[in-house]
Amino acid sequence: MNKKTKIGVVGVGHLGQHHTKHYSNLDGANLVGVFDLNQERCKAVATKYEIKAYEALEDLLSNTEAVSVVTPTEEHKKVAEQCIKKGKHVFIEKPITKTVAEAELLIALAKEKGTIIQVGHIERLNAALLPLEEFDINPKYIEVQRLAPYMSRGTDVPVVLDLMIHDIDLVLALVRSPVREISASGISIMTNSVDMANARIQFQNGTVANITSSRVAKDRVRKMKVFQQDLYITVDFLRSLTEVYRVMDADKSDPSAIMSAPLMSKGRHRQIFYEKPTIKKQDALKMELENFIEAVQGKVKPIVDGAAGKEALDLALQIHNKILEDIQ
Ligand code: NAD
Repeated sequence: MNKKTKIGVVGVGHLGQHHTKHYSNLDGANLVGVFDLNQERCKAVATKYEIKAYEALEDLLSNTEAVSVVTPTEEHKKVAEQCIKKGKHVFIEKPITKTVAEAELLIALAKEKGTIIQVGHIERLNAALLPLEEFDINPKYIEVQRLAPYMSRGTDVPVVLDLMIHDIDLVLALVRSPVREISASGISIMTNSVDMANARIQFQNGTVANITSSRVAKDRVRKMKVFQQDLYITVDFLRSLTEVYRVMDADKSDPSAIMSAPLMSKGRHRQIFYEKPTIKKQDALKMELENFIEAVQGKVKPIVDGAAGKEALDLALQIHNKILEDIQ
């Protein structure tokens, strides 16, 4: 039988309670306990899952091999540093830290201690995105929209670090090229911080991504459109709907297509094939925590490691700073 990883959760607020729930059910995990500065909350979550409520982080760390850090972002560096110094593997919710220097410090420390940092960029595991693995993705243009009705939770950070960072991480993973130029603009509507933002990112390989994020919207929207030579894919993260349009020569066939239409393009008889890949229902948080446990056990690599978390934060902060320049 495989050895179970002794794990704990630090910060059991809105999201931390879900980490706790999943670890309590994962085959590879032995959930030892939780720690939260709010001891009342800590005890309530511990009682629900019949685990120990720790009164000090140090004591939780002496009984675990790995922890999830699900505290507010400004606490990530302090808490994760304490965990890594004790040789613990850490899953840090996104964004990895508040500053790039903090992320670099944690990455260097983890390297020295030989521990894993995984970052909670959960959209990488969104079921609607997984069909893209079947295609040779080389986008020329990516359009992303993430709009949400106003909620006070999460507004301690600007919208770029709260919502847009999800899409920045996805775009970086799809494009895999250094950034050449950024232009961005934004506005404060409900808070003292930027609530609505748009960024146009030009990459050195010629790809352009246009990302719009807002936390002041009537309806929730989470959509991505990927355009490249002979291929157009739309992903609706909320409706779990992925649609693929492929242009191929007329003599080729696509067994997965549910519809095709003739097209005369570039002087050739061609066809447009329409596919709607089957989306397997899955819980993205459960999958990413499973991935973390397996990474700790040396079976796989973390889906989003510390370096990827830092890269997304770095670009998010550059975008946010451009917006501040634009506003002033
Ligand atoms: P929350 O405020 O609901 O919960 C945070 C908890 O941490 C609170 O219970 C608080 O008492 C506790 N806490 C604060 N400082 C602490 C410390 N030093 N040690 C121990 N406990 C401490 O916040 P939340 O909405 O659950 O967000 C937590 C983190 O998760 C944030 O970094 C946020 O950006 C991230 N988040 C990610 C997603 C996602 O989609 N991946 C969604 C929501 C939140």
